[in-house]
Order: sequence, then structure tokens, then C-alpha cells
Amino acid sequence: MTAMERYFVCYYHEIILKRNNRDFFEKRLWKNVERALSGLPYRSIRRISGRLLLELSPDSPVEEIGARLQKVFGLVFCCPAWLSNQDMKRLQEDLWELVRRQEFRTFKIHARRANKKYPFTSPKMNELLGDVIRKRSKGTVRLDHPDLTCYVDIVEKYAFLYFRKLTGAKGLPVSSSGKVVVLLSGGIDSPVAAYKVMKRGCRVIFVHFHSLPYTTPESLEKVRRLVSILNQYQYHSKIYMVPFAHSQKQIVAFTPVQTRVILYRRLMMRLSEKIARRERAHALVTGESIGQVASQTLPNLRAISDVCELPILRPLIGDDKEEIIAVARRIGTFPISILPAEDCCSLFIPRHPETRAKLEGIKRIESRLDIDQMVQDTLKQLEIEKIEFQGEMESQAISR
Ligand code: ATP
Ligand code: MG
Repeated sequence: MTAMERYFVCYYHEIILKRNNRDFFEKRLWKNVERALSGLPYRSIRRISGRLLLELSPDSPVEEIGARLQKVFGLVFCCPAWLSNQDMKRLQEDLWELVRRQEFRTFKIHARRANKKYPFTSPKMNELLGDVIRKRSKGTVRLDHPDLTCYVDIVEKYAFLYFRKLTGAKGLPVSSSGKVVVLLSGGIDSPVAAYKVMKRGCRVIFVHFHSLPYTTPESLEKVRRLVSILNQYQYHSKIYMVPFAHSQKQIVAFTPVQTRVILYRRLMMRLSEKIARRERAHALVTGESIGQVASQTLPNLRAISDVCELPILRPLIGDDKEEIIAVARRIGTFPISILPAEDCCSLFIPRHPETRAKLEGIKRIESRLDIDQMVQDTLKQLEIEKIEFQGEMESQAISR
């Protein structure tokens, strides 16, 4: 073992481009890193230029910390590093000390100096450090795809050495862009839509409509599991479970079969907007994509959007199913989304639904219903569940 102190050097993604309000984004990111690491031992977190520096303790689990950091939006790379010294002789010795225990035939040095007062330029550092490794190890320098890349980062008063760059989640820190309400079904698309807006710095409040007792409680369990996965990015989540069966029955009783899905959706939007106002959220988010299913044609999207004043964000609008599934697989929601469970919207719907809803016609049909009363009644029956991130996926606490 070497006596060098262990760190994680975490590099900012887009925050680096922020000028006036950089401080705000950095503080948000810092808080999120703290939450992501909750329950794990480490010494401290501090800000240095363009980076967050995480100082580890001897009992810090390096791999686990790396895995957690990789899910913090706002970071582009997280590098498990050793702290060396800016003195070239000591830097050379420290690097050799780390390199000698590694197996490789080809290598390169990738040195950077963020601190331009440092007397050696990056090419000069590459040369001075490379010479030592070459002579002592018999390895040869190879610039493209070497077995071993030795990163050297000179920043402020520090000199860090590392060999691995763990890819970060990129984007902006969760909560730096404000709050949104995501309409979360148990399907494939809406969890991906949630992920995408979280990546843009939104804190997400989840709203799920269910048709209990006509659908099974498994559908709620599915939603909880999806939120648990997404909660790894925002650390605490709230789900509004909204009973929808009563409203659906009225829609079924008084309106023609072809327009039902559009009426369901308009009602969902109205209710979601009420919840958004209560939560001080700035927008609603859905997993819709143009033309994917009958309810998502342009005329229908217009008829659905019509009831809302808040903006409706549709982050998947131009994506095809394959692209959406690829993200769902990567973030781990896909296997849960495809579990069988009936969605409220698959109840009482026709085989040939309306694809070209005319707003006036829809409004006329809807006027047969007492929408305000339906909204008021439903709002009295909302159930809120909370999910807290406590490190391990399995140990997330769900409170009702
Ligand atoms: P998903 O995979 O997200 O269910 P989908 O392709 O099945 O999408 P639809 O069922 O038409 O599409 O739903 C469109 C959008 O409406 C969903 O992405 C979601 O945002 C919202 N939505 C649909 N059903 C529900 C529900 N039961 N609760 C909350 N939101 C819903
Ligand atoms: Mg669906």
C-alpha cells in the first residue's frame, strides 16, 4: 500500500459553461453528492476549480462510491485518484509506485495542468513522467489504445494521479431547474421521460392514476418499483396515487366509446395541473411521442393539451420506440415496465379509437359531464407516498 491519500476527483459537465450563477449550480451539485453518498464513510467534500473533490477515508468503499457518483447528474467524469505532490521528483516516484503494481505492455501519460503557474507544460510532464515509467517498466509508449493510461491532473496546489475515468451521468444537478410533475403510468415511456427531465435538472413529483378495484394492486407496486429506480437520481420522491375508476365509470356511462381515451387524458391533465399548483411545479411531463398510438396523433395531443395552462413537456416527442427502450434498458426500468399489469387506460376502450379529435366536438361531448365535480371529488381522495433513498436500492423506505 502507498501512503498517498485517496480521493475522487469529480469533473463538472455543463456547469462549467455557467458564468453568473455557477455558484448556485455547484452548491446544488454538492448537496446531491452528499445525499448520493449517504451512509458511506468518507472524510470531506470540497470545491476546487471546476471540480468537486471527495476526500476518502481508509474505510471508504471505492467501488461503491464510484457507482453512486455515476448516478449524480451534473458530473461528466468521476475519477478514483491518489493525491501526489507537485514536486516533479515526488510525482515521478509516486506514479511509479502506483504503476509498478499494474500489468501492462503499452502505456501513455495524459497530463493536464489547470494551474498555469505550474512550471511544466503538459507535453513536458508527459515526457518527464513517461521516461521514468518506460525505463523502469520496460513498457512502451502507445498513444492510441494503450493498455494503461496514467492521468495526471495539476489543479490549484494539488497533483492527482489516476488510471480510471468513470463516466458520469452528465446533465444538470437535480433541483437546479425547479420542479415538474410527471404523469407516470406503469409503461415503458413515462419513466424514460422522467429520467430525461431529471437529467435537465428537474425535481420530479410523480402522479399515477389507477383504477382500483378494477385493476390489481400489482399495478401500484410496479409504479413504486419504477419510482425507486428513478429515485436514485433525486434521493427523495413523492408519488400521488390518484383513484380514477369512479371518473372512468362516468365517462363510460355518458360519452361515446371512440373519444374515451381523450376524455380520460383531459381529466388526467386537469388533475395533474391541480397537483402541480399545489406542489409549486412549473410544468407537466408525459411520455407521449407523435403518432406512437392513437391517442398521440397531433390533433389528439392538441385536444389533450387544451385543458392545461401550465406547459406540458413531452421529452420523447421525436423518439421512436427503439430509442426509448434503449434508454429504459440502460437505466433499468425496462424489465419492470414490461411486467404484466393492467393500466387504467386499457379499461373500457374501443379497438378503433378516435385519431382526429376535433376540439369543439370533444368539448361538446365533455359538457355532458360535471367535470368540476369529478375533479373536486378526486382531489379529496389523493394518496401520497414517499420514497427515501438510503443508499442501497433495496433499502429504500416507502412511507404511506
Ligand atoms: P407509457 O409507456 O408511458 O405508458 P404509452 O406509450 O403506453 O406510454 P399512453 O398509454 O398513451 O402511452 O400514455 C401516454 C402518456 O400519458 C404516458 O406516457 C403518461 O405520461 C400518461 N399516462 C398514461 N396513463 C397514465 C396513468 N395511468 N397514470 C399516469 N400517467 C399516465
Ligand atoms: Mg401506457
